[in-house]
Order: sequence, then C-alpha cells, then structure tokens
Amino acid sequence: MNDKNNHEKTFKEVAGEHPDFPGIIMRKIDTALRGVTLTERALERAKEEGALYDVSADLGLKTPRLVLGGALFRDGTVVLGLEDMYLQFPEKFIRRGSSYTLDAVDGRLWLLDGKERVEEVFFVPVPDYFGKKTSRGTPMLKVATPRFPCCLFVRLYNYCHFWEEKTPCRYCSFVKAEEGPAFTQESLEDLRETIEEALKEQGRWMTLFLSGGSDPRGNSPYGNTADEYVKALRTLQSTFGTEKVYARVVANAFPREELLRLKEAGAVTYEPHIEVWDEKLFEWICPGKAKYYGRQYWIDSALSAVEIFGRGNVCTQFVGGVELTQPNGFKTIDEGLKSTLEGVEFFARHGVASSFFILWVVGGSIFYAQKQKPAPLEYHVRLAKGVRDIQKRYELSMDFNNYRCSSGRPDVDLARLDYNLK
Ligand code: SF4
Repeated sequence: MNDKNNHEKTFKEVAGEHPDFPGIIMRKIDTALRGVTLTERALERAKEEGALYDVSADLGLKTPRLVLGGALFRDGTVVLGLEDMYLQFPEKFIRRGSSYTLDAVDGRLWLLDGKERVEEVFFVPVPDYFGKKTSRGTPMLKVATPRFPCCLFVRLYNYCHFWEEKTPCRYCSFVKAEEGPAFTQESLEDLRETIEEALKEQGRWMTLFLSGGSDPRGNSPYGNTADEYVKALRTLQSTFGTEKVYARVVANAFPREELLRLKEAGAVTYEPHIEVWDEKLFEWICPGKAKYYGRQYWIDSALSAVEIFGRGNVCTQFVGGVELTQPNGFKTIDEGLKSTLEGVEFFARHGVASSFFILWVVGGSIFYAQKQKPAPLEYHVRLAKGVRDIQKRYELSMDFNNYRCSSGRPDVDLARLDYNLK
C-alpha cells in the first residue's frame, strides 16, 4: 500500500527515505512482516547450540514439534519472523512478500535476503527449565513459556469469555481451554516452583510478563479476571519474598477498586490495551471489549490507573496495522497513522505511555480466515517514529517495557536508544 500509487516501497527505498532510522530495527520489522525460514544447515546448528527442543513429550503430542530458543541480531535486537517456531504461537502465519532465510555459512549464521547476506545473527539456547516437571508432575513449560529469548510469559487466565460469546478480537488466535479459574492451590504451587526453577538460570530473564484472556463477569467489571491476577501476584510476592512484583501486568480494563487490589498484591505496572483508536474500528475489531464495557471505559481505566501506579507505569498498546485491514479500515497509510498517533498523543497527555505491536495474522484468528495482511514496512517505520516522538515530547518513558521483551514493538527499540527521552 502506498498513498500515491500501488507500489509498495522496498526495504532499500524505505531506508533511503528514513536515514535516521536504525537499520537493525528496520530489519527486525521487515523480518516480522516477511517471516524467516531456516535451512537444514541452520536447524542443525540450532540443535548443536541447544537452541532447538522437541516439546511433544511435555505437551503429549503424537508428532514431534520443534521449538526454537530465539535469535538475536548483533546488537541484541530480537529477530522476528520465527514465531511459528516459538512455543506459544500457532504454526500458521500470513506474511508479506518473500521470506528471509537463516543459513549457516562459513561457520557463521546469516540472515539472507535472497542470496544477499544482510545481517549476522545468533541463536539463543532454550531455557534450562525445559524438560523439567513440578513436584506434581506438571511440565514446567506448560506453566511459563519464554516469550522470545528473554521474557518469561505466564498466561494466568486460560480462558477468554469473548471466544465463548463468539466476539473475539479479530486478530486473536487464543483458543479457550476449560472455563473456570485458572488457578487452584496446586497450580499456584506449580507456578511458584516453575518461576524458582527458571530463575536459577542467571542472567537469562529480563522481564516477567503476566497476561491472560478476558472474563468480564464477577463482582465488578472483569472481576473474575482480576481475582486470578491477584492470586498470581500474591504467589509471586511470596516466591520473591518482596512486597513489589516487578512484572508487566497486561490485563483487562479494571475499575479503580480492582486496580487498588492489584497494587496491594504487588503490581507496580499496569497495561490495559486499547488495541485500536478509531471508535468504529474498535467496535469492529474488538467487539468483546466494545460490549464489555465500551471504548470509553477502557480509556478511563488507563487514565485512572496513572493516579495509582504513577506516570510512565501505565501503558496501553495498539496493534499496528489493524486500522488498515479491510473492508472497514482506513484506505491509506497517512489516514491510519493520523488516527493511531492521535490516540498515542491523547494517552501521553494523560501520562499513559503507548506502544504498538506489529499485527500477526495467525492461524485460528478471524483475520487469518479473511486472509488479511500485516501493513507494509513504510507504515511501521513511520508509526515507530511517530510514537517515539510523541513520548519524547511528553517526556514519557516506560522502563518496565524492556526492549528484549518488546518483541514485535519497534517503538520500544527506538526508545531504548534515547533512554532519558530528552
Ligand atoms: S481479549 Fe481479545 S486478544 Fe485477548 S484473549 Fe480475548 S479475544 Fe483474544
């Protein structure tokens, strides 16, 4: 997509138009959009380096499923486009353009665009806790999964009511498990043991990431979900022996009384994600959120959280590119950017930081069934710059969003380069 004609700008053209944009971060975005395929030689090398693991025994699968520990560019930026080889993702993606290749050549590992070696990359071994079980026999990789190389992801609410009501977010591939609270006394014990085991691998984990599906029911809006977060946070308080739990808490939009409960249970950050700014698109793309309890409620929750957690400790997220999906989305990059950046600016004015995630069109989602595509490279580069510039103007940083956990979020990569935002 291009505003003036149908020509989609190539990597070189976009790089030429944005010489101030770091090349490796641009390459990261492009790997997310186009995907990365491993050659047999690269797979062999991943095996030799302990970066490949067969999860079939842990997950009770009948056929082997190999997952990858991760891959980094030479400056530590995460290589994307390999998500189909990560544990927590489905194996089907719709990409844009031809995929990159990862190959082992002359003793080194290269990212190839066609035949051209564009960057040297490095595998990350799978975590040491893979293959281990809790004292109740639960495979630890079912309790916590690495989200890219350095972020430990705990899905603490394994159920989303929106799927039950057939109103999931259109990009979501989350398939609900059984209804009911995710945590029992036993599963909280599994969580404690898994986190303790994972932390034995020193220097590996940069961020703990708590997230889950949505249940709008309960004693307050999303009260059932809030109960699960409180249980997990309390368990982590006692695991770490600290009052505060330094974790990303990505959750539903909670009312003030639930936010206070989270804080008391140790939360220091909070992220209710708005996903898309335009009012009509919010209703189309996130019908569950629109029904429970509407866009304004989600916005108000983020704003009131700033009073509780402090400026810069509350973050919302946009799914970059969803506002260009058709038939209801914007028709041009300029219109899409204008809308999303208006949202980013609104939140910044109220002390809420924003980030954006590159849309993954994944198997199991409505967008996948509709054959939607992620937005072009040019769009993401301009959006990343736009988000970074606004946060700079408002001197908003969100240090808890460690860039190695930023995965598909290039604006966070940019933010780390000018840490003090001045
Ligand atoms: S809230 Fe939306 S994105 Fe999250 S699990 Fe439910 S349907 Fe998926």
